[in-house]
Amino acid sequence: MVDRIYNFSPGPATLPYSVLEEAAKDIVNFNDKGIGLIELSHRSREFMAVAEKTEILVRELLSVPDNYKVLFLQGGASSQFFMVPMNLLGTGKKATFLNTGVWSKKAIKEAKIFGEVEVAFSSEDTSFNRVPEDDEYTVAPDSEYLYLVSNNTIYGTQFAKFPEKDIMLICDMSSDIFSRTLDVSKFGIIFAGAQKNMGPAGVTVVIIREDLLNRTPDNVPTMLRYQTHADKGSMFNTPPTFAIYCVGRVMNWLKDQGGVAAMEKRNQKKAALLYGAIDGGNFYRGHAEKESRSMMNIAFNLPTPELEARFIAEAAVIGLDGLKGHRSIGGCRASIYNAFPREGVEKLVDFMTEFAENNS
Ligand SMILES: *Cc1c(COP(=O)(O)O)cnc(C)c1O
Repeated sequence: MVDRIYNFSPGPATLPYSVLEEAAKDIVNFNDKGIGLIELSHRSREFMAVAEKTEILVRELLSVPDNYKVLFLQGGASSQFFMVPMNLLGTGKKATFLNTGVWSKKAIKEAKIFGEVEVAFSSEDTSFNRVPEDDEYTVAPDSEYLYLVSNNTIYGTQFAKFPEKDIMLICDMSSDIFSRTLDVSKFGIIFAGAQKNMGPAGVTVVIIREDLLNRTPDNVPTMLRYQTHADKGSMFNTPPTFAIYCVGRVMNWLKDQGGVAAMEKRNQKKAALLYGAIDGGNFYRGHAEKESRSMMNIAFNLPTPELEARFIAEAAVIGLDGLKGHRSIGGCRASIYNAFPREGVEKLVDFMTEFAENNS
């Protein structure tokens, strides 16, 4: 194995090394067929099998019920910000949003183009440092759905429990899909860009309940209708074949690791190590309120911006890379998705202890 640094980047993010190796080999010579993976026709028997296997693994790992379609789309998670309301709203139709950060704000902005929007909760006035409890907001009774972002990548907040409201949930799970078990049947649509917890950039996984497919207004273009992609098994046009292949390999790896429940336990332990280092003294300060803490992205501050800059630079020297916080809140952030190894978290914790001792 080549010398690897620990990559704390929020996305594109670290992937299992075994997947990178498999992909490197298959790009050149797929399954020893004498043709490269990214040269294969998406309609070839070989690639169709790859896509089919990827879907089967996604379904198996998340226990996706039979009345849901799994789609592999392009345009990033950001395209879902408009595709969801474009397909599910329309004149006079309303949706309720929980505003827990930049990604929900962007989705709110797009939804307003297609229908009425009610923002039932916002933590914007406290720099999005928390997500709401169920009793902190009400959902407009005439709403089509309640929209939320399960893990707020930038601020390091996460819904520990999904809302239990009498309404269909639509959820952006870009930064925590496959990190914990969940009940898909509570959701109308789950979507996630692959580049955080599933694979490389280029594909967005959309899990959609079948009865939602025929609600789309007539004036929506063919490419932007969920039904189009559901009817054609995500092959209406050329799909992002390499990204779909990689997601399949990551799913395979995840299964080898014991599946989502086993991964969730590991994620909890990794996050607990880091939060322990933050709470263990007065030097580091976590951005998120404790009840809202994310297992995937840990955002924290040091006493001064100068110390933060030095922390990030010195960490990089010893192979702890990508710890700079998002430009909107500054500070530091450690993204520790499924494929991020525990040893890297331990190394960061050791460095944090040493850095605090040297700079207090
Ligand atoms: C990264 C991210 C996005 C944006 O994804 P793109 O694929 O770049 O459009 C959306 N939502 C969340 C929660 C994210 O973390």
